[in-house]
Amino acid sequence: MAIDLNIMKKRLEEKQAQLQASLGGLTQAHPQPVGPIEANDGAPDSEEVAVDFLEMQQEQSIQANEQALLTQVRAALKRIEQGTYGKCVECGRPIPEKRLEAIPWAARDIEHEAALEQRNLAGVEYRDEG
Ligand SMILES: [Zn+2]
Repeated sequence: MAIDLNIMKKRLEEKQAQLQASLGGLTQAHPQPVGPIEANDGAPDSEEVAVDFLEMQQEQSIQANEQALLTQVRAALKRIEQGTYGKCVECGRPIPEKRLEAIPWAARDIEHEAALEQRNLAGVEYRDEG
């Protein structure tokens, strides 16, 4: 049984809308960068500032993840339009249906996804200096 592109497209569009709403909400929560503390009575509570900073970092990390996911979802929607959806972007072999059911925006088969993760884990060495 082949993957139903209409269903996958619907799932991807829903995910896209959800991510866009989430990212929009996070952006509105911090319309301006956090500046120096002003008009504070007494000394600033350094502990509270540290917690705020941590929360901001976590939020930014979530935002970065969601942004990356949104990019993948959009790329998958584009592949549906172009008729290449469900094929590994590296080797062109079909991505297993079970994988697409679990991750509708999957761009690679398991073999190439693993290869990509290995590359990411190994890290990229920059040779700008020396
Ligand atoms: Zn592949």
